[in-house]
Amino acid sequence: MNQKQEHTVTLMPGDGIGPEIMDAVARVLEAAGARIRWERVDAGAKVFAAGDASGVSREAMDSLARTRVALKGPLETPVGHGGKSANVTLRKYFETFANLRPVKEFPSIQTPFSGRGIDMVVVRENIEDLYAGIEHMQTPDVAQCLKLITRKGTEKIARTAFALAANEGRASVHVATKANIMKQTEGMFKRVSESVAEDFPGVEMKHILIDNCAHQLVIRPEQFEVILTTNMNGDIISDLTSGLVGGLGIAPSANLGHECAIFEAVHGSAPDIAGQDKANPLALMLSSVMLLRHLGEAECAYRVEQAIHQTLARAEALPGDIARGRPVVGTRAFADAIIAQLAQVEPPPADLPIPQAVEMPARREEVAVLRGVKRELAGVDAFIEFDGSAEALGGKLEEAAANTAFQLKMISNRGTLVYPPTGASTDCVNCWRCRFVPRNSESAPCSACFTGLLEAIAAAGLDWVHLEKLQRFDGEDAFSKAQGEA
Ligand code: NAD
Repeated sequence: MNQKQEHTVTLMPGDGIGPEIMDAVARVLEAAGARIRWERVDAGAKVFAAGDASGVSREAMDSLARTRVALKGPLETPVGHGGKSANVTLRKYFETFANLRPVKEFPSIQTPFSGRGIDMVVVRENIEDLYAGIEHMQTPDVAQCLKLITRKGTEKIARTAFALAANEGRASVHVATKANIMKQTEGMFKRVSESVAEDFPGVEMKHILIDNCAHQLVIRPEQFEVILTTNMNGDIISDLTSGLVGGLGIAPSANLGHECAIFEAVHGSAPDIAGQDKANPLALMLSSVMLLRHLGEAECAYRVEQAIHQTLARAEALPGDIARGRPVVGTRAFADAIIAQLAQVEPPPADLPIPQAVEMPARREEVAVLRGVKRELAGVDAFIEFDGSAEALGGKLEEAAANTAFQLKMISNRGTLVYPPTGASTDCVNCWRCRFVPRNSESAPCSACFTGLLEAIAAAGLDWVHLEKLQRFDGEDAFSKAQGEA
């Protein structure tokens, strides 16, 4: 981007502490001479209250569609009820699929991990996984959330992570998954990452299970350079990593897509301290440094970053969350101290590296990635609501299926095989996964054959709540077995 031009950037102050920290950041950027014209728009609580269930105003959508870059304060999300998260609306609408969360030790912020040399980036997939928000009540007693992992989505985020590592001279990428348990979803994330890694011979891919990753992050955090992981794992792990270097008050992030970038603090709206001049503005300020670099304003980014470091090193008082026994300074006064420090910052060195923008993978327009896969139908899982025992349901289904092309192979409840009976002490609920396979293993079932089975189930007075086709891709089962199923 041209260094001389003024950049137009969408600004969303956000909820809770958002307006206070945004004011602090905007004042610091102005004092640093950032060539930014802000377009202020609303998102979050105010928009929900006005009756817009997306939480993002039309003006905000239009502004971001125009500017393609935003600095965003935290947005409140109703917990457990009500509207969708406005953050997720923005990420999904603008397909900002990569969430980058750098975590670097600050020399002047003392933590139990100080001196370890922590310097890593958590690269979190930002659209899919359990946060795709595809949830259904199966029965009044059973809720289900779909964990969606796609080849296309994984390829994009893996390519972004490896390109970032190569770009920044980082030697390894830890791919953190739970592929041992979720072999199809987390397993695909691992397998696709492995194949992407082959295109980056200078970067070593190391697979780690996410639970061990959490453990290792506390035991030996300095071993990590880049952690690539799925959406929910990344959400949790990156709060942990921010805690290693001083907490949420200093953790910045970028949401990047092919066409749009949204910079924001990792933390939320901190309602417990909102409106009290207590919030630490550094997380959003460091996000604004990432924004400046994204805009090509490397010198301005350098000045702001230096002023932050120098203020932290000299300050007698610090924001409450990082003061650790030292005197505490309010949000406004801390921003004033950084603004005063800006005048002391030496000009950047002549050889100041111009940061390379993270190389985003090319956008694929086609919806299918793998072609030519040989498919076979292996059966169907019918999820049936039934208020009774496994034996009673099994008996009814065996009878119902007798004159169809299918036979009942097994029933599982909460993932464990319960029919034929095993003696396991499963605490059953009223949603049963009933697996039907072709009666004659020689003849492959057709999709239309399922209709006869469903009619027979309905005729037996049973109600299915959801159906899942069982398939084999290139001879491999493309579905999981129940615990205990042969
Ligand atoms: P939170 O991050 O708002 O607060 C967690 C704790 O950290 C609180 O004790 C808070 O006081 C402290 N904290 C956070 N930021 C701070 C700062 N800058 N300075 C000093 N202390 C700070 O998390 P929460 O309480 O779980 O969530 C509150 C709301 O924020 C919820 O509605 C949630 O949905 C939303 N949220 C939004 C985002 C986002 O906009 N990206 C992210 C996380 C949570």
